[in-house]
Amino acid sequence: MPVLPIVVTADHNAVLTTKATRVPRVDEGVRRLMDDMVETMFAANGVGLAAPQVNVPLRVIVLRVDNQIYQLANPEMVRCQGEQTGMEGCLSVPGLIGEVTRCERVVAKGVNRHGKEIRIKGDGLLARAVQHEIDHLDGVLFTSKVNEGTLREVELATEAASPEVVSAV
Ligand SMILES: [Zn+2]
Repeated sequence: MPVLPIVVTADHNAVLTTKATRVPRVDEGVRRLMDDMVETMFAANGVGLAAPQVNVPLRVIVLRVDNQIYQLANPEMVRCQGEQTGMEGCLSVPGLIGEVTRCERVVAKGVNRHGKEIRIKGDGLLARAVQHEIDHLDGVLFTSKVNEGTLREVELATEAASPEVVSAV
């Protein structure tokens, strides 16, 4: 399974700001994409990745939270409750972090690698990552949602070593 190159904002690739297309059917190609995305997420030490971030304009996301891996096609938010505010980063926006207010608890549904509809229910980081990744599928980057005055630069080397900074998604 190859590690794929991650598209960053400096590439000026419209894939990051364009609404992604629904997956018509989870076939072998989509399963391969999901697996490559997990590899890429691991290699980049991220907690989530959306297909547009690897230059594929399809509604596919992967997540890794609490040692659990999720692979989801056509994810949709079913419920979004409560509120959490925390620092967020993005593998496609290296070197910038900012405070984003999101729902504290979510229920999302989608289709897994076997084509079966599943639901993901979670709070905290999992809820934040799900919202961040679904935003990617709608062409929305976290930088458009940061609370005013909280966006700041971080040194990339320090970011990885600093436990108080949330992992990039
Ligand atoms: Zn991101």
